[in-house]
Amino acid sequence: MTTTSDPGAVTRAPVPVPDADSAGFWESTRDGVLSIDRCTQCRRWQHPPLEACRHCGQPTRFEPVSGRGEVFSFIVVRQPTVPGHEPPYVVGLVELAEQSGIRLTGVVRAPVDAVHIGMPVEVRLMPVGGGEFRGPEFVPVSR
Ligand SMILES: [Zn+2]
Repeated sequence: MTTTSDPGAVTRAPVPVPDADSAGFWESTRDGVLSIDRCTQCRRWQHPPLEACRHCGQPTRFEPVSGRGEVFSFIVVRQPTVPGHEPPYVVGLVELAEQSGIRLTGVVRAPVDAVHIGMPVEVRLMPVGGGEFRGPEFVPVSR
């Protein structure tokens, strides 16, 4: 995943710039489906995506995932950096339920003091960069 941004600017949200490896991710999320790159041979998931499997070198393709996972790590953003996100808020690194080590970054829509490592969450695909693309955010769920 590649984004562009103006360092220090709060006047413009980052806009995804899909490349050959990430285009499938952005096309899928635009259609409201979270898909992750998966090996067609050994069936391992991988993220960030690549055209070939990091494990066995065989071709990969994007496949839908559950969107469920848990907070692996997080930070609390206390300064305004992105329009539409009023601090304080949490940016989490979420490990997906499909496979250990497959982690996505996104805002966790929960009170800052409620977020903790291991918190079960589920993805919501929200407009980013003016609405042409959708990116992952996460909301708490019960197990
Ligand atoms: Zn493989």
